[in-house]
Amino acid sequence: MKILLTNDDGVRADGLSYLASRLADLGDVWVVAPDRERSAASHALTLHEPLRVERVAPQWFAVSGTPADCVYLALLELCRDAALVLSGINHGYNLGSDIFYSGTVAGAVEAALRGVPAIAVSTAVRRSGTDFRPAADLCHALARAVLTEGLPKKTLLNVNVPQPPEGRPPQRGYCWTRLGERVYRDLVDSRTDPRGGTYYWIGGGVLPVEAAPGTDLYAVGRGIASVTPLGLDLTHDGLLERLPEWRLHGFEAVMAHEQQPVQE
Ligand code: MN
Repeated sequence: MKILLTNDDGVRADGLSYLASRLADLGDVWVVAPDRERSAASHALTLHEPLRVERVAPQWFAVSGTPADCVYLALLELCRDAALVLSGINHGYNLGSDIFYSGTVAGAVEAALRGVPAIAVSTAVRRSGTDFRPAADLCHALARAVLTEGLPKKTLLNVNVPQPPEGRPPQRGYCWTRLGERVYRDLVDSRTDPRGGTYYWIGGGVLPVEAAPGTDLYAVGRGIASVTPLGLDLTHDGLLERLPEWRLHGFEAVMAHEQQPVQE
């Protein structure tokens, strides 16, 4: 059984190699990952330039694209019959609204869109050296559970694992959670280059915000790993029920089931 791994930190990232070695006893591990860091690449696909693939080891490929490119290329060409896809271990959390920007989550989303069960995994980083083992251990257990239990169509798991306190064994607890709200400082830093032109750096640091109980942020804030099930249908049912009360000037609402397909 093939297990496909990708990430957004690049094919040489430590988190990826930890995950690959930890999962080796579960199946045949294949790695298809970006040739350089593509963090915050979200779900971008490279459609306007060629993708180059370098085989760095028999079952390891470096791709000149994004995590979504990697999973697309892997599932359709390089590693067609993967039974499970894991993306990570990302260097840094992917909590709350991070999932919309994250290349790590996008790698898993691409698999889920293609009907392959998927897990995205991220861990906090530590300046003195990140310990990837707790995240890799939890992924091992989760991968086994997913292979046994399966996941519903168009769903995936988003996993975030705190760093264990230094010198102490990692805790074995975890929480099933929902997405919380991660808040960043708004920042547009405008600077002047040596030729007088303006350039910008965007994106501020995380702001400390009280997390709601039951969320991924609440769990990791208490040193406990979070596992959040994500669904790919972003339709908001409550709003869809209320919208028929709206009136759009000059237009008429049509019941969807009354619509005839347009013949082209
Ligand atoms: Mn990353």
